[in-house]
Amino acid sequence: MLSDLEVSNLITKTIQDVIGKSPVILHEPKFVGNEWVYLKECLDTGFVSSVGKFVDRFEFELASYTKSKYAIAVVNGTSALHIALILSGVKPGDEVLIPSLSFVATANAVTYCGAIPHFVESESVHLGLDALKIRDYLKSISEKKSGQLVNRNTGRVIRAIVPMHTFGHPVQLDELLKLAKDFSLILVEDAAESLGSYYDGKHTGTFGLFGTLSFNGNKTITTGGGGAILTQDESLAKHAKHITTTAKLAHRWDYVHDEIGYNYRMPNINAALGCAQLENLPMFLESKRKLFSKYKAAFSSLEFVSILEEPKNCSSNYWLQTLCLSDSVESARDSILENTNANGVMTRPCWRLLHSLAPFQNSPKMDLAVAESLEKKLINIPSSSFLINPSNL
Ligand SMILES: *Cc1c(COP(=O)(O)O)cnc(C)c1O
Repeated sequence: MLSDLEVSNLITKTIQDVIGKSPVILHEPKFVGNEWVYLKECLDTGFVSSVGKFVDRFEFELASYTKSKYAIAVVNGTSALHIALILSGVKPGDEVLIPSLSFVATANAVTYCGAIPHFVESESVHLGLDALKIRDYLKSISEKKSGQLVNRNTGRVIRAIVPMHTFGHPVQLDELLKLAKDFSLILVEDAAESLGSYYDGKHTGTFGLFGTLSFNGNKTITTGGGGAILTQDESLAKHAKHITTTAKLAHRWDYVHDEIGYNYRMPNINAALGCAQLENLPMFLESKRKLFSKYKAAFSSLEFVSILEEPKNCSSNYWLQTLCLSDSVESARDSILENTNANGVMTRPCWRLLHSLAPFQNSPKMDLAVAESLEKKLINIPSSSFLINPSNL
C-alpha cells in the first residue's frame, strides 16, 4: 500500500515527465493567428461594440464549423443557456433536469428563468447524465398530465433536460434523446465545454432543440468572454437573435421593442478574436489529442489512477484532461492537489456538486451516489493546447 504522500509524488512526477516544465496553469489561451490583425481592424474602424462585420462572420463560421443551421453569438455561455431555456418554453415554477456534476452556470441559467433545477445522476465512465437511471427515476416520481410531465412530489411541470458534455466528452445522446421523447421533455445541450467534440460524427450542441457554447478565457477557444446558441430551427434562431439584441424592431431611427429583450449581443471586438481563434481550432484540437496520448502512456504505469478517454462512438476535444483515482487511493486527493500545486503543476478538483451548494440545497434531486463518488476522485490536470510541441503551433 502506498502512502498518500507517495501517491501524490508519483502523480506530480508523471505529469512533470509529460509536460517537461513548470510552472504550468490548468488551461491558458493561445493567440498565434490573426488575432492582432482582426483586433486592429476593429480599433482602426471604430467598430468595437454592437455594430460591425465580425459578429456576422463569427456566427457564419461557427455554424459552418459545427454544421449547425444557425448560430447566434452572445456575451457568454451562461446567457446562451438562459435564452435557450426561455425559448424552449421554460417558465417560472417549472423544473429542469440538470446534472449535479456540472459548473454552476447550468443551474444558474435555470433559476434566471424562475425555474427550479432538479438534479439528476451522472455515469462514471464518461461523466455524462445516466439516461437509464433517470428513466427509472422519472417513472417512479412523475406522470403525464395533458401532454406535460408533472412531478408528483412537487406538482410542478418538468419541462426540459439539459445534458452537459463534461470536460469535452460527449454524453450518450441516443439514450437521452429517447428519454426526452418518451417523457415529453425538451432537450437543450450545455455544450459549453465541447466545441470540437462529436457524437456519432455529428457536432455536440446540434442534437437538442438548442445547444449552447462558451468562449470564456479557459475554454478551447476564447473571445475574452462569449457564448453562442446553436439551433436547427429558423424561427427559433430569428427569435434568439431578436431577444438577445434588446428585441428592437429594425428601423432607421425609431426605438420600438416588441417584447422584453436582453442585451446579450456579443460585441464586435470579441467576435473578431473569435474569428481568429476559430481558424486555429483544428490545430488546438490536434495538440490536445497529442497531449492526451502522452498522458495516457505515462499514466498507464500507475495502476491506481486512470485518465478519461473519449467514448467509442465519439471524438472528444479533450478540453480538460481528467484523472480518476481508484477507490484505494481516493483518500489521497487533497494531498495530490497540495503536492501538484506546490510544485507548479496547476490541478483542480471537479466542481462541488451543485445540489450541495447553498442556493440549491432545497432543490429536488434523485439518488446521486455516483456523482458523489466521482466528486471525490476527479482531478483536472494541465491541458492547454500548446503544452507539448509548442514549436509545432
Ligand atoms: C463554461 C461553462 C458554461 C458557461 O460559462 P460562461 O463563463 O458563462 O461562458 C456553462 N456550463 C458549463 C458546464 C461550463 O463549463
